[in-house]
Amino acid sequence: MSEFDLIRRHFTRATPGALLGVGDDAALLQVREGFVLAVSSDMLVAGTHFFPDADPYLLGHKTLAVNLSDLAAMGAIPRWATLAISLPQADDIWLERFSAGFFALADQHGLELVGGDTTRGPLNLCVTIFGEAEANQALRRSGAKVGDEIWVSGCLGDAALALAHLQGRVALSDSEYNLCAPSLHQPQPRVALGRALRGIANSAIDVSDGLLGDLAHILAASGVGAEIEFVRLPVSATLRGYPELISTCALSGGDDYELCFTVPAALHDALQSLGAQLACIGRIVAGSGCLVLDAEGSSIHLKGAAYDHFR
Ligand code: ADP
Ligand code: MG
Repeated sequence: MSEFDLIRRHFTRATPGALLGVGDDAALLQVREGFVLAVSSDMLVAGTHFFPDADPYLLGHKTLAVNLSDLAAMGAIPRWATLAISLPQADDIWLERFSAGFFALADQHGLELVGGDTTRGPLNLCVTIFGEAEANQALRRSGAKVGDEIWVSGCLGDAALALAHLQGRVALSDSEYNLCAPSLHQPQPRVALGRALRGIANSAIDVSDGLLGDLAHILAASGVGAEIEFVRLPVSATLRGYPELISTCALSGGDDYELCFTVPAALHDALQSLGAQLACIGRIVAGSGCLVLDAEGSSIHLKGAAYDHFR
């Protein structure tokens, strides 16, 4: 199979939302009146972000999901993506499954694959995603205000717990692993929530490297501090079964792909009516850095905040 057969067979679909899609030297894209482009790239490297023998369908899903999560954090509408892929060999069955997982999630979000690059090399997957955002409504890291409540969607730490199991650091039962594995392998990007938070949230980020590390980005960009209440962290029944792991998995685990955002306290009730599974976990305070408080209000000391590739 030639490079061009591979692209045609596995990565070429109709792209009615683009002026020009796969097949020329560049795609041609037009954002709608009143919108600007929101652009983000995320790369997944075999051995670093996933096991080299990972299920290709789930890998196709996750490759796109992590990028959709960045657009969700901006409150943007996903429109297009490009996919740069480096493969050890042109394995037709693997590619079939990978592209099926990728396009199943793309279809859920009305996203079109409009281009990319395909080379031979170590397995490496890089998506650049393009969305539409209302320039004055895009959610940013920099808008948190003293007095804001800090909220997070979904549950934290299940992906890290599943990874700990696969790496032999904890031994989950089959049913426990099956409950938390989807968070690791098939994260659901919170695109609809990101849209709903426009005009409500003062700041937002997606939790990809662990809550504490990602919240720290909001704090630094906004010039504020935070207090988190440990007991309010949304944690699954599975993770509650391993109390000694709650802090590492839920606070610094990574791969959650939930949204963390701050909201004026006066909008507390409006948020609860959004219908999504949302938890208020703390508040923005003057100063810098994040304190994690126990049930008595004393600060808990934690070491090792977020995942950092170069530390
Ligand atoms: P060029 O050599 O001009 O960069 P390529 O030969 O790399 O073009 O790619 C041919 C066409 O196929 C281009 O439109 C490119 O965007 C698209 N393409 C290449 N790889 C992929 C991929 N993995 N997924 C989607 N489109 C791809
Ligand atoms: Mg090329």
